[in-house]
Amino acid sequence: MNKGNMGAGVAVEELVFAYEKDRPILRGVSLEIRPGERFGILGPSGAGKSTLLLHLNGLLRGQGRVRIGDVVVGAETLGEVRRRVGLVFENPDDQFFCPTVEEDVAFGPLNLGLDREAAKGRVREALGCVGLAGFERRNPRRLSLGERKRAALATVLAMEPDVVAFDEPFSNLNPALVEALTGLIAGLEATVVIVSQQVLPALSVCDRIAVLVEGRIVRTGTPAEIAADRDFLRSTGLDFWSSLDALRRKGLLADGG
Ligand code: ADP
Repeated sequence: MNKGNMGAGVAVEELVFAYEKDRPILRGVSLEIRPGERFGILGPSGAGKSTLLLHLNGLLRGQGRVRIGDVVVGAETLGEVRRRVGLVFENPDDQFFCPTVEEDVAFGPLNLGLDREAAKGRVREALGCVGLAGFERRNPRRLSLGERKRAALATVLAMEPDVVAFDEPFSNLNPALVEALTGLIAGLEATVVIVSQQVLPALSVCDRIAVLVEGRIVRTGTPAEIAADRDFLRSTGLDFWSSLDALRRKGLLADGG
C-alpha cells in the first residue's frame, strides 16, 4: 500500500506458551524484528511456528512479552494491536465470510469506523496492490487458490497494517504462483513476518531468518548465512540442497549451479 508506511518493529521476549499443562510449545522465544524488515521463521512441522505467529496479534497470549512498535500486546491493547498487525492465514478461506470479494475486503476498514466511500478507496487500493482489480463482485470462494490467497492478503492490506504476518504463504502454490507471491511480498510497505517450511521462497524474499525447532530459536542469520550451513539445515530437516543435488546428478543443473 502506498502510504509511506515503513512498518513497526516487533519484539518477542522470553515467550513461553503451552496449549496443555506440562507440554510447552514455545520454550522461551526471543526475537527482535526491525521496522520494515522481511523476517522469516523457518522450522519443521510442529516446531511452534503458527503458535508463535498467533501471539503477534494477541490471538494467543503466553508468558513473556510481545511488543508491536511501542505497544505491548495485552488485554487492554488488543484493539490497537489487531489494527497494527494483520495475519494472513495458511488457508485463505479462513479469511472470507462475505458473498463478494469487495465486502470481505471492506469489512475491516468499515469495522475501523471508515465511511463507505473511504472503505471503497481502501478496497480499490488493496485489490490493485494484489493484482485483483475488477474482482470486486466475485465470490471469494469461487476463485482459484492463487486468487484466493491474494484476496485474503487484500483483506489484511485494506487495514493498512504496520505488520503483515503470513502463515505458510507458499503452501500448495505452483512455482509461478510462488514467484508472483514473493514479488508481491517484496513490494509491501510494512514489516513482514513469514513462517514457513518452504525454505527457498523464504530465503529469497526475507532479509533475515530465524530457525525455530521444538519451541526454541536455534539460529538467526541472513539468508546467505543460513543457506551456507548445510549441516545445520540437514539437522533441522530443512536441507533444500539435496533436491538441487538430485537435479545435478540427473545433469539438469550445471556443477556449481
Ligand atoms: P508449526 O506451525 O511449526 O507446524 P504449530 O504451532 O502448528 O507448529 O504446532 C506446534 C505444536 O502445538 C504441535 O505439536 C501441535 O500439535 C500443537 N498444537 C497446535 N495447536 C494446538 C491446539 N489448539 N491445541 C493443542 N495443541 C496444539
